[in-house]
Amino acid sequence: MKILLHMCCGPCSCYPVKRLREEGMEPEGYFFNPNIHPYKEWEQRLTTAKEFAAKVSMPMQADENYRLRDFLRQALPAEAQPNGRCHFCYSWRLEQTARFAAENGFEAFTSTLFYSIYQQHDLMKQMAESFAERYKVHFYYEDFRPGWQEGIDISHALELYRQPYCGCIFSEEERYSKAIRKQRKAAAKAAKAKRLATETAEAGAD
Ligand code: SF4
Repeated sequence: MKILLHMCCGPCSCYPVKRLREEGMEPEGYFFNPNIHPYKEWEQRLTTAKEFAAKVSMPMQADENYRLRDFLRQALPAEAQPNGRCHFCYSWRLEQTARFAAENGFEAFTSTLFYSIYQQHDLMKQMAESFAERYKVHFYYEDFRPGWQEGIDISHALELYRQPYCGCIFSEEERYSKAIRKQRKAAAKAAKAKRLATETAEAGAD
């Protein structure tokens, strides 16, 4: 089966490529990630994706346009909704992958996003299924998450650059800002205290 594999980066491609080959498929990689910022980081991830593809002899294509402004134009309004920015981000990348697959004669598509233990897996699956229907191309689904550690091990063996944050400038801030980490810790603590108080009140009512 001629299958297009959307690659969010090199390290996340390690396990999915292994699995697809075990299933008898020869994937072709496709790097389309307008969500990666700033420029040097996007360039580094693109270079690493190419390095990975060369090391495992996988053909790949890449959209080499850095699209910070296009991303922000749509991500900023989406921030008003809970998880809105990530929904927009998944949707853009999965739709473009489905469209590219259909326009370039692929029978199916999938994405290394289904390897991530940090993303909203079920939501991305629903989106991919709906884009498959829209563009009349098969979505090959596999939950690659069980191979999380194996993928990390392969990426180390191949000496690939591993990124320290998800991709967009917001996630970079969330990764490094002490103030945001402090806020999140306080919110988690407050939620835990609220849960315990509810449980105690419920136990008292029994
Ligand atoms: S956090 Fe990750 S998934 Fe969410 S918008 Fe940023 S790059 Fe995309």
